[in-house]
Amino acid sequence: KELFISPSIGIAMSHERHQEPDEILRDSDIALYRSKELGRNRFTFFDDALHQSALNTLIIEGDLRRALTRNELFPFYQPMLNISSKKVMGFEALMRWKHPHRGLLLPGDFSDVAKETGLIEQIDWIIYEQVCRDLPVLLNMADYASINVSPRHLGHDDFADRLLALITEYGIAPANLNIEVTEDALIERPELGMKLLTQLKLAGIRINLDDFGTGYSSFSYLHKYPLDCLKIDRSFLSTIVNHPDNKTMHLVRAIHAVGVSLGLDVIAEGVETDEQSSCLQQIGIVLGQGNLYARPAAIEDICKMLNPASA
Ligand code: C2E
Ligand code: MG
Ligand code: MG
Repeated sequence: KELFISPSIGIAMSHERHQEPDEILRDSDIALYRSKELGRNRFTFFDDALHQSALNTLIIEGDLRRALTRNELFPFYQPMLNISSKKVMGFEALMRWKHPHRGLLLPGDFSDVAKETGLIEQIDWIIYEQVCRDLPVLLNMADYASINVSPRHLGHDDFADRLLALITEYGIAPANLNIEVTEDALIERPELGMKLLTQLKLAGIRINLDDFGTGYSSFSYLHKYPLDCLKIDRSFLSTIVNHPDNKTMHLVRAIHAVGVSLGLDVIAEGVETDEQSSCLQQIGIVLGQGNLYARPAAIEDICKMLNPASA
């Protein structure tokens, strides 16, 4: 057989900061991984920028490990609502990190490190537990809370058992919890993913497919997996315009039609402007989530906003 090879190479030059031979190897390894990230079949020199980024990763990892034991991670909640009536249907839990020096951090500031190091799983369980604690309050204002499930969980045979045990411990009815999974989670673990989602679905938990439209957007996934809801990724909304020639409008209309014909709820994510909202209404999309309606906020602020009497 003819073989095609695409080597990824990392190169580190000896530098005064190196004390031991292993440190040069470590740096070349970091450069090698960058070659892989950049698409393989290339070489990368370990330079100051890579050094800085490796240091940052180390710092974030150290801080994150400490954060796990210091209650610095907690959920914000963003309403998902009926676009016309503005009735809040549920809340998505979005992890936040109250960093002792850097202030409030968003997932974009730390989720790469959390995923690389595997800490995302522990973080998720911390968030899930807080959601269970907050749910009785949230249920005064809506029907459910939705949690994001990192692809790594679908690699654990006992994920569904553990989640069901957690909600039982807190006396939460499965119907009051949604989980959000992305297509890449299912692509990574198709069989175990199917088994776990089916188990959760049979127990009564609703399943949302998150960020639809960014990945493979596979129609086969839509009917194969036991889904309840399709969340249209916010990237579509940036180019949606109420005009007959607007291609995004046609695309979103088509995605909505597929979702509805498969019996799924359809939620548009990331709605920022009145124009986007009116496009969605014109298409017939009932449910939306976005800064136009409500930004993610701490539970106290959600209560003040939606239920001022109780705050
Ligand atoms: P996602 O699940 O798709 O969540 C929606 C993201 O869109 C949130 O970003 C939300 O703040 C943002 N968003 C909502 N409305 C608007 C809008 O109108 N404009 C813009 N520009 N953004 C809007 P966030 O909170 O930064 O979270 C980013 C991603 O991090 C989430 O995307 C999800 O994939 C992940 N994530 C968040 N919380 C968790 C968690 O507890 N566990 C795991 N595993 N992942 C999480
Ligand atoms: Mg989500
Ligand atoms: Mg999303």
